[in-house]
Amino acid sequence: KYEHVLKTKRENLTKGSPAYYREHLLIHQGHKQWLWDTNGKRYLDLFAGIVTVSVGHCHPKVNQALEEQINKLWHTTSIYLYPGIHEYTQKLLKKFPSKFNVVLFANSGSEANDLALYLSRLYTGNFDIISLRNAYHGMSPYTMGITNLSTWKYNIPTAFGIQTVMNPDVYRGPWGGKNCRDSPSQALRDCNCEAGNCEAGDNYSNQVQDVLLHCVPKGGKVAALIAESIQGVGGAVQFPKNFLKQAARIVQSAGGLVISDEVQTGFGRTGSKYWGFENHEILPDMVTLAKGIGNGFPMAAVVTTKEIADTLGQAAHFNTYGGNPMACAVGSAVLDVIEEEKLQQNCETVGNYFLNELKKLRDEFEIVGDVRGKGLMIGLELVEDKKSKKPLNADSFLNIFENTKNMGVLFGRGGLYGNVFRIKPPMCITKDDVDFGIYVLKESLHKETK
Ligand code: PMP
Repeated sequence: KYEHVLKTKRENLTKGSPAYYREHLLIHQGHKQWLWDTNGKRYLDLFAGIVTVSVGHCHPKVNQALEEQINKLWHTTSIYLYPGIHEYTQKLLKKFPSKFNVVLFANSGSEANDLALYLSRLYTGNFDIISLRNAYHGMSPYTMGITNLSTWKYNIPTAFGIQTVMNPDVYRGPWGGKNCRDSPSQALRDCNCEAGNCEAGDNYSNQVQDVLLHCVPKGGKVAALIAESIQGVGGAVQFPKNFLKQAARIVQSAGGLVISDEVQTGFGRTGSKYWGFENHEILPDMVTLAKGIGNGFPMAAVVTTKEIADTLGQAAHFNTYGGNPMACAVGSAVLDVIEEEKLQQNCETVGNYFLNELKKLRDEFEIVGDVRGKGLMIGLELVEDKKSKKPLNADSFLNIFENTKNMGVLFGRGGLYGNVFRIKPPMCITKDDVDFGIYVLKESLHKETK
């Protein structure tokens, strides 16, 4: 019945998004943390459309806000004002430390990061951008140059002269210090600290200095350091304690700005703090938002200070749709739902529960190399065995991944070698959902390893 949809995908749509599973999954309905396929089969969604459906699919309150707005006003562009943009801007800024007082609206994470990078160059008069290994910041010409997953190779010069000054040959990444092996994964570290609490972070300031001294092209100066507070697409990678703090201090004292990419980690997902950067005791100069901000509605923003934003001058920043009435209505309802349903607290308690249950799987199965994350931003890394720490072969990984889907649970996949289960569900999942997810994962791991 749906063969025509698959035909369109094959013949008329991008090849960029290959089938996630061995065959394409055809989804046609959603409610909160649940999705249904075209055969009526129900799935627990533990990936939220790539960490985007923050408060739940088709949340009634968000739907209602959108419906009311649709019947009032769709679009004006920013040349006219309307009350919704005022209300939403004020509501959003209340969630930030007081120095942040400007919101620049955009439509996607890539676009928000583009704008932040551009602004950092304008404001500092410098050119070079430092981004980290295994980072994902977008697919626009600007951000492609700083998306550093080694599996994503571009054989075109990165457009508009953006510089990825973080050179993996010189800069070994936060894992390259004395205490931790040079590895893309906390799982594979030689030191045995809990992910995110590794004390080795203090040692890494030398590496950031190295970047500034050796990697910045001759005569270059740093405009910005851009970083996710937990790397998302990279596989829920947490930095050693103090790494970002040290890096931010060095970059800011060298006259550069710090951009915190909160596209995945924002809006309470990490549980303890509303924004991921707060877990690192840093005060960035710009924060970029997308995905969860709109629960699936295309919207994004750069949040910064007036002083920085003013360097744009008049009319130097414009886009047709940013901050449109529908986006602001949705964004506002999303913030209300997070408060009313205490979703940030839910991320903390259910996230901790999830992590603990996953750690039991790590202790039980030789192929579970690591479990890490914070709140509902979790990764489970599969390896051949705990000793060799080699990424699990793709066939076995896919067998397990496929089986979880067949049993009714959708996970994400990521990491440098595609061997990480990514768990970033709508923030409303319950402990019962966790039990179901763990049961399915355990059965699938058993099936592959028995
Ligand atoms: N930053 C991060 C951390 C992301 O995960 C993504 C998307 N995966 C982006 C930026 C880019 O967002 P978009 O796809 O909306 O352009």
